[in-house]
Amino acid sequence: MILVPGLSLKNLEPRVWDPKSPFFLPELRAVMVSYADFHRMPARRFAAMKQGLASWLGVSSGVKVYLDNGAFYFLRRPGPRPQRAYEEFVECATPDWWPIPQDYIPAPNMPPAAKARCYQRTMEVNRNYQHDGYVPVVHIGPLLLRYTSAVLEHPKLSQKPKLALGGIVPNLLRAPKAMAYVDVLKGLLHVRDKFETKDVHVFGIGGTATVHIAGLIGAASVDSSGWRNRAARGLIQLPGSGDRIVANLGNWRGRTPSVGDWEQLETCKCPACKQTGVRGLKAKGIEGFSCRATHNLFVLLQEAKWVEKQIKAGSYERKYGDRLDNSIYQPIIRALLELQKGHSQT
Ligand SMILES: [Zn+2]
Repeated sequence: MILVPGLSLKNLEPRVWDPKSPFFLPELRAVMVSYADFHRMPARRFAAMKQGLASWLGVSSGVKVYLDNGAFYFLRRPGPRPQRAYEEFVECATPDWWPIPQDYIPAPNMPPAAKARCYQRTMEVNRNYQHDGYVPVVHIGPLLLRYTSAVLEHPKLSQKPKLALGGIVPNLLRAPKAMAYVDVLKGLLHVRDKFETKDVHVFGIGGTATVHIAGLIGAASVDSSGWRNRAARGLIQLPGSGDRIVANLGNWRGRTPSVGDWEQLETCKCPACKQTGVRGLKAKGIEGFSCRATHNLFVLLQEAKWVEKQIKAGSYERKYGDRLDNSIYQPIIRALLELQKGHSQT
């Protein structure tokens, strides 16, 4: 499974994908940029189209560039969607992975008719972009079964090698009227079963839980912006589980590291901790942000590696409890394993 960290064009630091950067992470296999950022920054859009995304970002060979369509951003803005401009961008900037130009993400608290409209409009874009490498998008929610039948019944969409699954963020973030997490997990398993031969990309869920859930359902890739969001709030991630607050940046609250946590951090092998130790993690400004973000992404990449290794060896179920010690995600993972078992017995 490829973990795809989301970038922000507003601040490209830390350049974890760039071999020339002190924060370079050699294990990184992909990054994701959002078309919404390029839409807001025409000069950067132009430069990326001229040079191609990979060379404009300066990614090392072997790192794939994923493009997000910026659906969340455009949903909140009135007016026509820049579909043509997106097409043009895809053609010239040549990302390695790109979804349909727009999908309409239903909010959990929408009335059923509005959710049905989101479904119809998204399917319309899926059908309009059945050609070339546009990856179709479906959403977790009450209309998921309709999505899967519509894609499977469509001669071209059913043949596409890739699929993207969205709508998980509002549901797992406990938005008003969000689905119970068991239903979200059932949806994820349903998609995996229906599209066994496709590379399924899961639009980001968050931190550590993302990696475990996506690994267990056999997703090909998953993106996450959690490494940067957490860093901006002074948070760092510890292997296996929770966040700890290490830099006091205002009103953000969180658990502070224990003596054992600090000891663990002192031995961290990420490029940030190796260079500046815990001092860098605690720092304010761009230095602290870059150190924490690099550290968080390094931990997520290690986590993905661990999950993959344990699943392959058949030891995940035996070991995840210790790994996710005290994590609020433990019950979610336990429920997913139970659902999978029930599933394989039927
Ligand atoms: Zn570190």
